[in-house]
Amino acid sequence: MDKIYVLGHKNPDTDTIISSIIFADYLNFAWKNAQAIKLWNINNETKFILESAWIIEPVTMTSLPEWTKVALVDHNENSQAIDWLDSLEIVAIVDHHKIGNFSSESPLFIRIEKLCSTASILYKMMKAENIIPTQPQARLIISAILSDSLHYRSSTTQEEDKIIVEELNKIALIPSIEDYALQMFNAKSDLWDISVEELIKIDYKEFEFNSIKAWIGTIETTNPAYSLWRKLEILDWMKKIKKENNLNFIMLSVVDILNEKNITIVPTQDEIDIIKKVFSVDTMDNLVDLWKRLSRKKEIVPQLTEYFKNN
Ligand code: MN
Ligand code: MN
Repeated sequence: MDKIYVLGHKNPDTDTIISSIIFADYLNFAWKNAQAIKLWNINNETKFILESAWIIEPVTMTSLPEWTKVALVDHNENSQAIDWLDSLEIVAIVDHHKIGNFSSESPLFIRIEKLCSTASILYKMMKAENIIPTQPQARLIISAILSDSLHYRSSTTQEEDKIIVEELNKIALIPSIEDYALQMFNAKSDLWDISVEELIKIDYKEFEFNSIKAWIGTIETTNPAYSLWRKLEILDWMKKIKKENNLNFIMLSVVDILNEKNITIVPTQDEIDIIKKVFSVDTMDNLVDLWKRLSRKKEIVPQLTEYFKNN
């Protein structure tokens, strides 16, 4: 039986890694031969979660041979997927993002739902097949939900996501979800030993808006001051990355998880002009207060999509 590689997006976040692991388990349960892989290193939050659940992280593979079967989780846009996606055979997609430029040559399994994490959808799929999650699986799915929803602070959170956490915690038995979420976010905010380049690249996604190539980064943290202190260095790196990757637009949001605030860094006049028009806010010293916009997928990308459609 051909092996199916299960993979998430570039610059993997917790939901991408956990959904790859859970979907591979799901496929293997159905007598398929599946393996979770990742496209790059995991972040400190994901590391903390996997260690606390005694789960080994998937191996990194940055390319696959032509015609390899793949299942995509937590993304569907080419610009966020493994390189040369067009040369692979996509057999399934499970995701909770907008549909980008996706098209396929043959039929496939697709499930996209408006839940806060891909892992929530995978849990519903397990439930429909009467698969009871193991304790580590339950712990992982809860973690993905807490991570993508910033413990329900994000506007992407649905009532159903919260019910799933409650249900799964009957198996996972995490004594305090609140304490656990805080431990996760503190682990993610442990950025002292990383370079500015790594800091910027922790969680960025590339988008194509018409012919505009845009790069939208986020740093979700319980310690925003740490990133903002390094603003001048960050600005230099953003300009460099913009040039090297032929980008038209680049922004980096520092999201203060606990106080629910978004301070965004914009390097040049190009971005400043656009940000002013799109969000009706002023910038100061390359910083802009985007207030409570915690969700890139819901509160930043759609607004930019709309703007670039008309400009
Ligand atoms: Mn993700
Ligand atoms: Mn996700």
